[in-house]
Amino acid sequence: MISKTDSIELHDRKFQLLFDKSQIDKRVQELAESIKIKFKDQRPLFIGVLNGSFIFTSDLVRAYHGECEVTFVKLNSYEGMDSTGRIEEQLSLKENIKGRPIIIVEDIIDSGRTVHHFLKSIQSKNPSSVSVATLLYKPKAMQFDYNIDYIGFEIPNQFVVGYGLDYDGLGRQLDGVYVLEES
Ligand code: 5GP
Ligand code: MG
Repeated sequence: MISKTDSIELHDRKFQLLFDKSQIDKRVQELAESIKIKFKDQRPLFIGVLNGSFIFTSDLVRAYHGECEVTFVKLNSYEGMDSTGRIEEQLSLKENIKGRPIIIVEDIIDSGRTVHHFLKSIQSKNPSSVSVATLLYKPKAMQFDYNIDYIGFEIPNQFVVGYGLDYDGLGRQLDGVYVLEES
């Protein structure tokens, strides 16, 4: 049964709860544990992609019980970009990542374009490894071919908000993930 609090309104649209706080917390713990098993005593650098991944990144690194570093980038990728795969880095990476293990942290992978271009940019700086972690993944929307190492939840090709993700600026602070109600 859908309770009152499972339905929210942002601007002019209604959204229904998809994953609540406890489901997300549990999954984030599991992802952090899998990452720790792989990275053992290495010191990975988590790179959160702003704005959407600020909450997921902070929860993921707090659940990661090992030495690590954290930084953020802010990216903008466009349709119809040339094959060199440049992206506009509105806030760019300052760290020297040569020889270091990198984990890119995204809130959601939709078409896959943003991470595709960022991966190329990261790989050109010769890190020792690059992994991708995303809380949400829309497999039906994906247009690129690369491996996503850590996926929180696969979701249908629908618009979601909450837990860092916004609808026209609103909803980032919600502790659950909500899906747009079809009107
Ligand atoms: P891409 O298509 O490059 O994989 O995703 C680009 C960006 O679009 C994501 O990082 C995210 O900020 C935004 N995005 C994609 N799908 C959704 C969605 O369902 N809800 C919200 N709020 N943002 C989305
Ligand atoms: Mg994002």
